[in-house]
Amino acid sequence: PAHRQTVMHVRANFSYDPADDPYLPCRELGLAFQKGDILHVLSQDDPNWWQAYKDGDDDNQRLAGLIPGKSFQQQRETLKKTTTERNPDNPGKLWYTKKIKKPRKKSFYNPSRNVESYTEDVLTYEEMTLYHQAGNRKRPIALIGPAHSGHDDLRQRLLSVEPGRFAGAVPHTTRSPRAHELNGREYHFVSRSNFEADVAAGKFIEYGEYERNLYGTSVDSVRQVANAGRICLLSLHTRSLCVLRSSNLKPYVIFIAPPPPDQLRTLLSKEGKNLQSEDLKEVTQKAREMEQNYGHLFDAVVVNSDEDMAFFQLLRLIEKLDTQPQWVPSSWLC
Ligand code: 5GP
Repeated sequence: PAHRQTVMHVRANFSYDPADDPYLPCRELGLAFQKGDILHVLSQDDPNWWQAYKDGDDDNQRLAGLIPGKSFQQQRETLKKTTTERNPDNPGKLWYTKKIKKPRKKSFYNPSRNVESYTEDVLTYEEMTLYHQAGNRKRPIALIGPAHSGHDDLRQRLLSVEPGRFAGAVPHTTRSPRAHELNGREYHFVSRSNFEADVAAGKFIEYGEYERNLYGTSVDSVRQVANAGRICLLSLHTRSLCVLRSSNLKPYVIFIAPPPPDQLRTLLSKEGKNLQSEDLKEVTQKAREMEQNYGHLFDAVVVNSDEDMAFFQLLRLIEKLDTQPQWVPSSWLC
């Protein structure tokens, strides 16, 4: 059959199982997909049920099926949340009359948010475009993972193996320079008031306080590395992903997942670290939470069950950024 024109490409920010969807007009017609999958949309003639097929099934468009349309999905998820999340202090009362949902992080919680703004939080689809990295402007790479997943060690190893190719961003700090340190080399040394003004202006991807001094990584310092033709390697908390992605740096996000607890125990004991069972389980639990809340923002996942293998897998992924176009949000290319 002749290939049909695609209307758009989207990344699914939620997982979908047609067998679980009572609204689907005909279950056999549904297309199952996982959070993070790229879907090629063939038709949006019916706003409630788009026709799409999964990336990778390209030679097989007959595997196309129905997926919920964006606004349809948004509406029913909003409805589900507002009617099922009840106020624990007063179970008879629905959350939405008081507070829509518990804030993930206090600092980001804005009590003036109402139902309308809440619908933006419902994860549906993001429109994507194929993007080929410009040769002289390398995409920064953010390594994400729970403590003990080894993402910091992998980052250090990349930096030390190919210092001409990879670099860290020069951080800012409010502490005073030590004897051998140069402004702009080890750190950008700034006053607390300047640092705070830059934080308020949204110039930092992340920052924190250590021994009564502020430290942080600015968007500009990452851009400097990219402009110099090197790959900036960042090790970040999940909470920094949104700021990083809203910059125009086109970051590539790799999640370093820990192996199952038993394997992790063996791996860590080789490094002389002996974790208790509860701590090992906590690493797994933390990784699961990160994938649940931020998994849609990960471009790739590397399971670190062996440091050498994980390292070479990382190198291969990074190589692909130069050789193959990658899906990025269409909004990045406007
Ligand atoms: P030092 O003052 O010895 O150079 O660094 C002390 C600590 O500052 C480091 O161990 C690290 O925890 C923190 N630090 C350094 N750079 C950054 C940064 O860019 N962001 C954050 N959040 N902390 C940093």
